[in-house]
Amino acid sequence: MPIFMPSAIRNHHADACLEIDWDDGLNSRYAHEDLRVQCPCAGCRGHTPDQAKVITGKADVHISAIEMVGNYAIRISFDDDHDTGIYTFEQLRSDQNKS
Ligand SMILES: [Zn+2]
Repeated sequence: MPIFMPSAIRNHHADACLEIDWDDGLNSRYAHEDLRVQCPCAGCRGHTPDQAKVITGKADVHISAIEMVGNYAIRISFDDDHDTGIYTFEQLRSDQNKS
C-alpha cells in the first residue's frame, strides 16, 4: 500500500473536525470526538486488546493543538488534557478508506 502524506492539515474548531488534504488530492474530515474516542495511546488502548478502554462522553472534546511527529504522524492534544495520542498518517488514511 502506498504511503500518503498530508499536503495540508486544518483544524476547524467551530465544526469540531480536523481536515486533511492528502498529497494525492483526497480530502478527509475527522470529527474531534471520533479522534478522541479512537485515541491510539497506550493509556487508552492498553498493551493488549483486552485492556482497551471504551471511551465515551467525549462529544464536547475538541482538539487544542496538533504537532508533527517526524514525517509519519501527528500528535493531537485535546482540551480534556489528553495529549499522548500519536496518530500515524497510515492509520488516518486507512480509517478514511474504510468509510
Ligand atoms: Zn489516549
